[in-house]
Amino acid sequence: MASSASPDAPARPARSAGGGSARARAAATARGPRARARRPLSPIGSHLPVGPGLARGAFRTAVDIGAEALQVFVGNPRGWARAAGDPGQDEAFRSLCADAGMRAFVHTPYLVNFGSPTPATLERSVDIVAHNLVRAYAIGAEGVVVHTGSCVAEGSREVAMRQVRESLLPILDALPEDAPSLLLEPAAGQGQSLCSGVDDLPAYLAALDGHPRLGVCLDTCHVFAAGAPLDAPGGTTETLDRLVALTGPDQLRLVHANDSKDPRGSFRDRHERIGRGQIGPRAFEELLRHPAVAGVPVVVETPGGVEASREDIAALKRVRGR
Ligand SMILES: [Zn+2]
Repeated sequence: MASSASPDAPARPARSAGGGSARARAAATARGPRARARRPLSPIGSHLPVGPGLARGAFRTAVDIGAEALQVFVGNPRGWARAAGDPGQDEAFRSLCADAGMRAFVHTPYLVNFGSPTPATLERSVDIVAHNLVRAYAIGAEGVVVHTGSCVAEGSREVAMRQVRESLLPILDALPEDAPSLLLEPAAGQGQSLCSGVDDLPAYLAALDGHPRLGVCLDTCHVFAAGAPLDAPGGTTETLDRLVALTGPDQLRLVHANDSKDPRGSFRDRHERIGRGQIGPRAFEELLRHPAVAGVPVVVETPGGVEASREDIAALKRVRGR
């Protein structure tokens, strides 16, 4: 197994805007004397390309398109290589985000699969996730999103879940208290998914002893593809109620807001612009009104590049109302 299970990140200054308690999040997003009576706002943002650098590229783009939260890859999303990062850009990004109250997240590469029957894939998954946690810590991100994976072959689910436990627990145990959380993102249910939709989350979290460094990232397209009735009136509220009932009130740390090109239960993961797909606009209204989403960042991963993100962020802000 790779030797990288302990993110040996240096100490860094206390985080000012990201992470922390629900109260800190509320304070970061709702300011002013009247804010106390209001529910904390959900910062709205987008997954963004790093471009010429985290500070020069991603942060500037985020501000330009009106994002209040952003998610980045810290390396090639379709490869295993560890990207070193640029210390100057890391530091600049961290302080710019802190000053602006910008909430930052890192998404791990797509190839990561802790349920893989291929030893090299498992080893590389451990290595790159640990590396992404170190990078996230260095840039002041509050969470690292990881897909919950698949056992690939039928009938190997039990072995795969044991693998998830044995490979992820040491990584989680090695994280310092102020390190980013590892956010589990359930899949669309394709192949032999280990966790799709919200119903599989309790078993997955239990396999990791409900570790305190864990959280959940809910992707609206994924849960819809896995069968959740987000296209029905009340269906999104019901799905979020169910998430809370199954995992507890504080597990949801990030939402990937994506509409879907495919119908409910398709098991296909093809994102569509907000309100323009099979999920439709009402789901995002229910989403942004749900108490479990109060103060939780909502980022789009919709097609069409940065200009489309700008429009989707504006659409979600209109729904949010302020
Ligand atoms: Zn997603």
